Amino acid sequence: MLCLTHKYNNKSVRRQTFPEILSLLRHPSHYLGSEINAIRKDPSQVRLRFALAFPDLYEVGMSHIGMQILYYILNRKNEIAAERVFAPGTDLERELRAANRPLCSLETRTPLAEFDIIGFSLMYELTYTNILNMLSLSSIPYYSKDRDMRHPFIIAGGPCAFNPEPLADFFDAIIVGDGEEVILQVADAWLEWKDAGADRESLLKEWSKLQGVYIPSFFEPAIDPRGFQLLEPTIPGYTTVRKALVCDLDGSPYPDRPVVPFGRPVHDRLSLEVFRGCTRGCRFCQAGMIYRPVRERSPETVLSLAERALANTGYEEVSLLSLSTGDYTSLLPLMEQMMKLCETEQIAVSLPSLRVDSLTEKLLTHIKRVRKTGFTIAPEAGSQRLRDVINKNITEETLEKTVRTVFESGWQLIKLYFMIGLPTETKDDIDAIVHLVKRLQGIPVSRKKRINVSVSTFVPKAHTPFQWCSQISVSESRERLRALRSELKGRGLRFKWQDPEMSFLEGLWARGDRRLSPLLVRAYEMGCRLDAWSEHFRFDRWQEAIEASGIDTSFYATRPRDLSEPLPWHHIDSGVSEGFLKEEWQKALTGSHTQDCRTGRCALCGVCDFKRVKPISFAAKVQWNFRLFLINPLQNPFFK
Ligand code: SF4
Repeated sequence: MLCLTHKYNNKSVRRQTFPEILSLLRHPSHYLGSEINAIRKDPSQVRLRFALAFPDLYEVGMSHIGMQILYYILNRKNEIAAERVFAPGTDLERELRAANRPLCSLETRTPLAEFDIIGFSLMYELTYTNILNMLSLSSIPYYSKDRDMRHPFIIAGGPCAFNPEPLADFFDAIIVGDGEEVILQVADAWLEWKDAGADRESLLKEWSKLQGVYIPSFFEPAIDPRGFQLLEPTIPGYTTVRKALVCDLDGSPYPDRPVVPFGRPVHDRLSLEVFRGCTRGCRFCQAGMIYRPVRERSPETVLSLAERALANTGYEEVSLLSLSTGDYTSLLPLMEQMMKLCETEQIAVSLPSLRVDSLTEKLLTHIKRVRKTGFTIAPEAGSQRLRDVINKNITEETLEKTVRTVFESGWQLIKLYFMIGLPTETKDDIDAIVHLVKRLQGIPVSRKKRINVSVSTFVPKAHTPFQWCSQISVSESRERLRALRSELKGRGLRFKWQDPEMSFLEGLWARGDRRLSPLLVRAYEMGCRLDAWSEHFRFDRWQEAIEASGIDTSFYATRPRDLSEPLPWHHIDSGVSEGFLKEEWQKALTGSHTQDCRTGRCALCGVCDFKRVKPISFAAKVQWNFRLFLINPLQNPFFK
């Protein structure tokens, strides 16, 4: 077989071909790009080549619905080709470096450096070193100031973009908020800019005019006498960046031909987003704040999408996705129709995010008809007092009743999620976790019942009422976990926990500022990558990098912040007002409840103007009569 050649080929020795490299990998199928519904366009027939880069392994990235949505939306345009690229596994990285080959896209095996725009998904802080690794494997400079007309534009988006500052120096642009509409505006601006033959700065200026687009280089950082980062806008009037928002989610495009991953992804099922946003108001939850207001897809749209997407993929399970699917207004009628649609083909319907208080008996009768894997319940805190602090208004009695009903309905495994280190937590609250679990374990139902308890350390996030709180230290976290571990054992009980060092680093990056960017480079150069994977996570290297960088981590993570101090993400406007967050913080301290605006009064969080931006829900209106026809996915015109 002939050796592939490209501009990185500067060695006279014969390099391994990509198929030869593939044969050496643990998961070669993850790099093939020939999955069902993958879209491969002829690069010579498009004007804009867009790489969607996911800085984690294929099995994680392919479970991310946001990437599938953008892939679908961009590829609907004839003049644009969107391709995927994931963080390489350690085996692929080793082979690429040994063969002096660049990281390539899946669909056409194009080196990343040859794309026009590379858009990274920022889903989790512990994937940040993978971004540098992907740039390094593409010979693209990390820092935006070092890139010029020879390089692609490097942009990013996703929930972590709501505090973009620790990564600000690396990106040309960062998209804040819903990507569906703004991604096309970004692409259109690029096409116009290309036609005009202007310089890079001109495109950045055009992008800065779009709602939801942050251009970090248009803000100059300075440090005030108290040591806080301040940002000075360099473009008149460009002082804040309001998040992009899709007002009409029901009319927004959604993939009915999602790419079906090879191998076993983290979520091996068809995911249908039934609504975005959550107004339950849990005070620790960043997603609940930044994705407001609630916008539902109509049951008709969901059902029609399910019918088409199941036929186009052959999945055996469909998952109705949202932050709290039990709150979907027409859940019962939708479930009835989904069951009719799916039952004959033995397709399971799952609801991955149910709140205890949204679980009615009727709903249970629907979901117990399908496969029963574990049933997940997230009390988050053990004591009623602390659940009031975080505005998670579930009582111990409701929890007990739900667990009993779930076990009696045939489930044998219940997964309970808790956090430690929540604001105002005391030893009594830790003891209350033990008490609650034992009470639930003592419910006299099947002897086969099992309870898995998962505990993670609370990480305060930007744009939440807890953004001013201190995070507990690694040693405090270890101590509290040790106390729980010693108590939570016994027959049918399993205790799992999130690594406290990982939570500590997550917290550092979640509320960091631009002074952290050299630390990321240093940690990466010291060998840190794939940090979200415990088998690759090297806290010792991180500690060395932190020491060498002279970063005071307590300044970012474990220090309580004054309500008046400037926050690094102050210029990013999620729509939820700072006044509301402060009020919620004060209410947390007194354990006062804030109602869900879906069912109660508007809490005046600030995001809705009640004209264009408002909560949207649908009551089921029509009678459906669907029959599912499964087609041979190989007939898909995109599958070659
Ligand atoms: S402005 Fe009112 S209705 Fe809109 S999301 Fe906030 S609390 Fe809910």
